[in-house]
Amino acid sequence: MPVGPGDDCAIVMCGTEKLLITVDQLLEGVHFTLAELGPKNVGRKAMARNLSDVASMAALPLGAVASVALPKGFKRDDAETLYLAMKNTGELFHCPIVGGDVSVWPEKLAISITVFARPAGIKPSLRSGAKAGDALCVTGHLGGAWRSQRHIKFTPRINEARILASRHELHAMIDISDGLASDLSHLCDSSGVGAEVVAADVPLHNDAKNIPDITPLQAALSDGEDYELLFALPENHAEQLIREQPLTVQVTRIGTFTAEKGLVLVKPDGAREALPPSGWEHKT
Ligand SMILES: [Mg+2]
Repeated sequence: MPVGPGDDCAIVMCGTEKLLITVDQLLEGVHFTLAELGPKNVGRKAMARNLSDVASMAALPLGAVASVALPKGFKRDDAETLYLAMKNTGELFHCPIVGGDVSVWPEKLAISITVFARPAGIKPSLRSGAKAGDALCVTGHLGGAWRSQRHIKFTPRINEARILASRHELHAMIDISDGLASDLSHLCDSSGVGAEVVAADVPLHNDAKNIPDITPLQAALSDGEDYELLFALPENHAEQLIREQPLTVQVTRIGTFTAEKGLVLVKPDGAREALPPSGWEHKT
């Protein structure tokens, strides 16, 4: 099953084996402010974002190649710190950097990492298999990741995804990078279904509380950069999963996939309102 653009990883056939490939850019001034994060956090995040895409397919990383454009005058020590952070983060998940390219240019820091991965005995979970009636579940707690800097410290859910996919019939999965509403709408569009989200069931992160001008629920629905897993599975599998809680991180059911397209938010008083897929806008 070759998979082209539009999922978290592409899948190509390598002989009879499936090979998963994902590439991601991290650009200074667009995705991060170097003075704020420093080279270590930037390097860590650049690798971890890619690994989160591998996690969303329930695959195991094989290795990475990295391409970095350093700004003119970038310190040698900082370049080393950047590289080591990428390398060490990859190695935590058995994903060595096996090659790459470094240039110096007159613009800001730009990083592109490509990660290769393999199914290793578990069927890759695509965005496209959710069915009406499936339970909608999420790992962890959501919201406030940018403001609290949790977006630089997150753990790619590779191990968790492997456990989920090996024990349960996952129909579809995505990682939350743009925001719960936005990524759910990507998953629904790929699957040709809609979803209803029960507002009271969305697991709110402590970081989502006390943010000016936005409620914790709004933060959880729209902030993004949580890098948690959002997935679809049959109701009876979800019931067992929620009961057993086999992961080191909490799994919560937050809603149900529907035949009717579009996202609906079910409020605590039972009122239903359209949930716009208003996702993340980069704030730098
Ligand atoms: Mg993704």
